[in-house]
Amino acid sequence: MISLTDQSNVPKILCDQSLEDSAHWLRAAGYDVQVPAAKLSDLQLYDIAQNEQRVLIINQDYVQDIPLESNSVLLVDSPLVFEQIKQIGKNLRIDWLYRPLSRCMLCNTELTDLNINKWIVLPQSMQNNTVTSHGCPSCKRIYWAGDEVNRMVFQLQSFKRLEW
Ligand SMILES: [Zn+2]
Repeated sequence: MISLTDQSNVPKILCDQSLEDSAHWLRAAGYDVQVPAAKLSDLQLYDIAQNEQRVLIINQDYVQDIPLESNSVLLVDSPLVFEQIKQIGKNLRIDWLYRPLSRCMLCNTELTDLNINKWIVLPQSMQNNTVTSHGCPSCKRIYWAGDEVNRMVFQLQSFKRLEW
């Protein structure tokens, strides 16, 4: 079981549903982060985290039924994403520039370099452009280099700079 204080491992993470926005940023930083599609009880979340060797993050100031002494559960207590980011970053020693944009934001799969022509037919006018892009081998979402990616990296850099 991964421990909150074990710095030799990059933590895999399971967030409860209310932490979806923070999970988004952890994933953008390159961490393996799962968020269940349905609302689950604390105990159900805990069981999944244990089975998948993930640190569990729950957005509550207390939990029942979960052995907190396992040191693999982090409680944060804020509705504000910025405050959640701060607490998670500090407690898990998150490196916000670990592997920026290396995972699919939708499904958490690691992205691969993309030969775009294998996936979609580009308009003739674009076929000769050298477009830098990555794709998700699972859900097939394409991530184009450009403003959206630049904005996300800029935000991650600002998290990194703050370091609280
Ligand atoms: Zn995907």
